[in-house]
Amino acid sequence: MISIDLGDITILDCDAIVNAANKTLLGGGGVDGAIHRRAGRELLAECRTLGGCETGEAKITKGYNLKAKYVIHTVGPICSTQKNQASLLANCYKNSLDLALKHDIHSIAFPAISTGVYHYPLEEATKIAISTVKTWLDMHKDYKLDIIFSCFDEKTYNMYQRYLEA
Ligand code: ADP
Repeated sequence: MISIDLGDITILDCDAIVNAANKTLLGGGGVDGAIHRRAGRELLAECRTLGGCETGEAKITKGYNLKAKYVIHTVGPICSTQKNQASLLANCYKNSLDLALKHDIHSIAFPAISTGVYHYPLEEATKIAISTVKTWLDMHKDYKLDIIFSCFDEKTYNMYQRYLEA
């Protein structure tokens, strides 16, 4: 099942939330900063052991002070500086979902990866997010997974609503 939520991803009560991180995995601004602030210092300590993360890849940690048991950290493409950015963005969603399956996660919330500081055009990013998630669900019909698209502002929420209905 796919749903959309308007608000702060860090307060969602689901098995895992996804972090739109940077390659260092050592925290940053936007959703990354919000997740680290609420999860606490232990999250940063675990992230230090991971050795960073390449664009499009995903790594998992515990959720510490979050309601979510896990955080899946993925690194979205920075708009205009990388080739194949659409497939790199799709990989963020796909690799996060593969990790969810591996860790028996049955509810997962995604922020709008790359659409903040990384300036990926919102409409394109929304289409990629929705189509990648739908394709993954189609390929894993026997696995029950609830997916929440966490939208921090109304513009993002409306965009997801538009393309989920389409
Ligand atoms: P990126 O570097 O991948 O662009 P950002 O964190 O700058 O990551 O932005 C990604 C998206 O996350 C943007 O739509 C931004 O508005 C949103 N965002 C920021 N804070 C939160 C939050 N606490 N919960 C959910 N989404 C958030």
